[in-house]
Order: sequence, then C-alpha cells, then structure tokens
Amino acid sequence: MAEAQEQEQPQAAQNSEKAENAENAEESEEKKKLEELPPFEIVTGERLPAFFFKFQFKNVEYSSGRNKTFLCYIIEIQGKESKTLKGYLEDEHAAAHAEDAFFNTILPKCESGLRYNVTWYVSSSPCVNCANRIAKALQKNKNLKLSIVVGRLFMWEEPEMQTALKKLKAVGCKIRIMKPQDFEYVWQNFVEQEEGEEPKAFTPWEDIQENFLYYEEKLAEVLK
Ligand SMILES: [Zn+2]
Repeated sequence: MAEAQEQEQPQAAQNSEKAENAENAEESEEKKKLEELPPFEIVTGERLPAFFFKFQFKNVEYSSGRNKTFLCYIIEIQGKESKTLKGYLEDEHAAAHAEDAFFNTILPKCESGLRYNVTWYVSSSPCVNCANRIAKALQKNKNLKLSIVVGRLFMWEEPEMQTALKKLKAVGCKIRIMKPQDFEYVWQNFVEQEEGEEPKAFTPWEDIQENFLYYEEKLAEVLK
C-alpha cells in the first residue's frame, strides 16, 4: 500500500484537479437539471441492491465511476415514545446531493422536546457544500446528534475540504471511516437479500482493511 501510495501521488493531484473541473461542470449541469426535473429525483428505499453496495461502497483509493452518493440512515427519535427509522438515499440524477436531500426530505425538521440520534453510513465523505449544510443543521438543532461513517474520503487533499471537515467536527458531528465490520453491518442491514433465502454472508474484498487504515490515517491528519 505504501508503495502504491507514493506512485499514485502525482496522479492523485491530477485526479483531484480533474475531479474539480468535473465538479464545476456538474454544478452547471445541476443548475440546468434543477429547472428541468421535478424536485424529487432522489431514490429512497429501505434496502439497496447488492450490486450497488458492492460497487459504490468499496473503499478503493480512487473511485472512478463512483459519482453518486449512497447514504444509509438510522434515525433514533427519543421522546415520550421512542422510534427508529431506517432507509437509504442515493442521488444519481438528483438536483441535490444525498446529504442535502436527507435534510430536505427525510428529516426536514427536528421538533423541540424530542432528541434525534442520527447515524449515516455513506459511500464517501461529504463535499464542501454538503459539509456546510450539515454543520448548519447541527447548529440550528441542538437536539440533533449526527455520526457519519464514511467508506472513502472525498477530495481530502483540498484545503477547503479540510476546513469543512474540521468545521463539522467543531459543531459536534462525529466522523469516522467504515471498518470492515461496518461494511458488514451495512450489508446485513441495508442490502437487499434474495427473497426467501437466508442472508448471504458478507464477503470482504481485497485490501478492505488496508484501505480502511489508509483513510483512517488521512482523516486523523485532517482533523488533528
Ligand atoms: Zn455534496
């Protein structure tokens, strides 16, 4: 891994530049889409197809082709009666990113008098805009606690992104990288299993542990 990392450094710089250009292009695309599409293009559901999980959540270092965000959520609401909500969002062709969509459609408002403990398992960490959106929600709703568990880090070399992640930490958002056990948890709790069959055992991919350690170290560097 260490060797591969060194070799990939110059490429990494290029990639993030490319990603940035792509992002800008995407933004104007998104503006166009905003006018063309109905507001609810977000796919929501309880369990996501196994194929999507295997492709989108894989904690590879450079995630070509993985240009959408999958967000699995657990909302524990504590009040007179407690309840737990579970589901997932994906944001392909959507006018909003999954994180933004969560606050727009899944949890548009936190009622005072109730406590909300929210956990997200997301394929990659939020972009700058979404990180700011999350920070705002946490600052506004003191009764909302959010833990984000991410498969990969998105553009963490960028100073702007690092600032946004630090800000999330400062407003009390917990962020950590998915461990192999977390992938297994998502597999068991959020991935469709064949009807009438026993859930299939989770098969970890090659390098799952190494990639987790790699991202964990990067995140620790950013948040230190
Ligand atoms: Zn975003």
